[in-house]
Amino acid sequence: MPRNCRPVHLPDPVPVPEPTPVDGCDVCAALARQRAAAHAKGDKAKVIDCNIEMRRHPHAMREVS
Ligand SMILES: [Zn+2]
Repeated sequence: MPRNCRPVHLPDPVPVPEPTPVDGCDVCAALARQRAAAHAKGDKAKVIDCNIEMRRHPHAMREVS
C-alpha cells in the first residue's frame, strides 16, 4: 500500500512573543540592550537567552500607589 507522504510545509517557526522590559528594572534594561545588540548581529541564540532571562527573573514591583 503506497504511502502518500506529502512534504509538510511548515510555516516559519512560531514566533515567540518577546518579553517587554519592565520600566525601572535594571535587569530588564540590561537584557533589552543585550537583546538589541544580538538582534543587530543576527545572533538568535543570544536573543532567545535574553528573552528567557527577561521572563524568568523576578519582579517585585507590584506597588501601584
Ligand atoms: Zn526585569
